[in-house]
Amino acid sequence: MKILKPGRPQTGYSIKCTCTGAGNGNGGCGAKLLVEAADLYLTHSHCRDETDGYVTFKCSACGVLTDIAKPTAAAWEAARKNGLHPAVHGRPDLLAATQEPTP
Ligand SMILES: [Zn+2]
Repeated sequence: MKILKPGRPQTGYSIKCTCTGAGNGNGGCGAKLLVEAADLYLTHSHCRDETDGYVTFKCSACGVLTDIAKPTAAAWEAARKNGLHPAVHGRPDLLAATQEPTP
């Protein structure tokens, strides 16, 4: 592909999160983090016969994982078809359904 005329710059998106370790033992360090789309990925946990997906980031300070939201059903379905560890680059819709507002 050739760019004939550059479009507007894409800045992606970012959200403010606190490292809590939610969903992963709650052992987070409490750091306040600006988490970018590239930092997020999908994880899953298996409970009885159900597999649940989560949108997760890894704290750059302590390395603990924190689950911040559940992916939308459509996003989760796509992720399961494409393998379970796709980064969610540029996909704020993955979070839109369940993300809690940042105070
Ligand atoms: Zn941390």
